[in-house]
Amino acid sequence: MTSADLAAHKEQIVDACKALVESQVMSISEHGNVSARVRGTDTFLLTAGGSLANMTAENIALFNLDGTLLDGAVEPTSAEIVDMHGIVYRLRPEMGGALHTHSPYATSFAVAGEPIPLIYEALARFNMTDGVPVADYGPRGSKESVDNIARAIAANPNTGGVLLANHGVLAFADTVQGAVRANIIIEESAILGLNARILGGAKLIPSAMIELTKERRDSFAAAGVQRTGD
Ligand SMILES: [Zn+2]
Repeated sequence: MTSADLAAHKEQIVDACKALVESQVMSISEHGNVSARVRGTDTFLLTAGGSLANMTAENIALFNLDGTLLDGAVEPTSAEIVDMHGIVYRLRPEMGGALHTHSPYATSFAVAGEPIPLIYEALARFNMTDGVPVADYGPRGSKESVDNIARAIAANPNTGGVLLANHGVLAFADTVQGAVRANIIIEESAILGLNARILGGAKLIPSAMIELTKERRDSFAAAGVQRTGD
């Protein structure tokens, strides 16, 4: 891991914080934290102070996957939640980014203790065919909370997020930008699911269609950009 690698990962985190705030998925407090696994290592970088709206590389610290601080400074409220990020990288080695927000619609499901089922095509296209499960409540970042997150992730291999009961959202993907996208899709799903209740309730995507939905995405992606004259 070179210092250029670390600087590049920090820049991705700063960009992701900006994208999150601009996407309007944040709660009024704009509380959140964002991490990136440093590729090819057992370490990750995490926002460890400041606010997401004004994130800088100086506010990002380096940790071992077990949560040990390797470099930088961590504010107490950030130190509480280090392992919430570490558990994602320990359980899902293919993940390159994780983030935590209190996105208000998704957090409404979290405080109701209700998972978000597969009701929205974007969930399927983003490999969240298990929907978004709920991890039972435990104090913020505690062993109880992290164990509950681990159980939810293990029981739902096809998801990009977990709702933290009475608290918020933990989203993850193969890149930090992907984790931002996952949080946005989870929040959209929650908005749509709640609105659909006024109309009698959301319907699930038919299970026979789920693989076809992904195959269609993949075949068009493989074909690449279509142009006139090709
Ligand atoms: Zn939180």
